[in-house]
Amino acid sequence: MENAAGRWNLAPRRLKAGRHYPGTWQEFIAWFATETGCHDYLGDLRWHDGFVCPLCEEVGGHRTGMRWWCPSCRRWSSVTTRTSVQQTHVTLQTWLLAVWLMSSDKRGVSATFLASSLGIDYRTAWHILHKVRLTFSQEDRDPLTGLVEIDEMYLGGQDLGNNRRGRSLATKACVVIACECKRGKVIGRIRMGRLEDSTHTSLEPWMQRHVEKGSAIHTDGHSGYVNLKTLGYRHIVTSMTQSPHPAHVVFPRVHTIASLSKRWILGTHHGGIHPQYLDPYMDEFVFRFNRRHSWSRGLVFYRVLQGLLERDAYVTRPQVHRVPLPKPATTGTQASGALKTSKRKQDAANQKLVEDELFTWAELDDTEAPPTPFSPLSELPSSEPVR
Ligand SMILES: [Zn+2]
Repeated sequence: MENAAGRWNLAPRRLKAGRHYPGTWQEFIAWFATETGCHDYLGDLRWHDGFVCPLCEEVGGHRTGMRWWCPSCRRWSSVTTRTSVQQTHVTLQTWLLAVWLMSSDKRGVSATFLASSLGIDYRTAWHILHKVRLTFSQEDRDPLTGLVEIDEMYLGGQDLGNNRRGRSLATKACVVIACECKRGKVIGRIRMGRLEDSTHTSLEPWMQRHVEKGSAIHTDGHSGYVNLKTLGYRHIVTSMTQSPHPAHVVFPRVHTIASLSKRWILGTHHGGIHPQYLDPYMDEFVFRFNRRHSWSRGLVFYRVLQGLLERDAYVTRPQVHRVPLPKPATTGTQASGALKTSKRKQDAANQKLVEDELFTWAELDDTEAPPTPFSPLSELPSSEPVR
């Protein structure tokens, strides 16, 4: 059995920069200068305990150049067989560079930037980024616990020339946000998801998947949350029609996340996200936000590669979106004029955002939380202590 293990030893207990993943740009260049170097690294990452045939799952085989021969099923395979990277027409070096660029910037990169940086066409860059995004899927993560703030936001209405507010879903996508509440206004882990609508039939399964039973959930008086107590949660309700405080004071964390995610879409992606592909973008935002304190560019690079090399990942992961989208109802010259005006305004706003570098994760960490005039805990009966 042949394996390059020992050069990188990619099955360690504790991962170390410079040994298991490149810690700096210089190390990256030195490790992945050739296609063989990239192949060896990915081979070690995928088969650190020895070659396992990706076609029949039998252990053992031998390597010839960049291919592996399985004596059991008598077939050739490679390090990319049955992974997200299989049958790629770009080099492994391009893939590794793309993953490095995407993981080394806290804000991520756009397909336009990647295409111009790597000298590939836009469609290829978009597909690479999309496959990397699918590894950010939050399905298997631990559910949120403690006190959790939940609210919905609506994306896409103004981009489509529709200025209607509220919960109308004619041209908007309903996105639910859940944030763990820490002391002051500090945000713990977050989850985001696009739902078909904001009714309890859509909200409840999502909350059961992402918030641990027994946790306290703080929401507004929306009817979608009425059954939370019967589902095993402690429910804290602040009716916005009766509250003297505005929504961003009562739900400071979800409003911060809503505004940061919108600014991320405008700043990094120039607002150019098709609603059909919103889910992977939100997964990426959540992944980046939840790692904002312990961000190691090399470690993220390592984890993303692991995700890309998972067997059958390409087959089993949701490829595009999980929720059907309503069709935009903009037709005729009036709508087209409104779209053009809206697009011009949008472009100007995007330009300003990019220039000002408004989007900084640091602002969350550096801001001293002012004393809050509102506490959701005061809404809870004293007999029900919150963990
Ligand atoms: Zn085989």
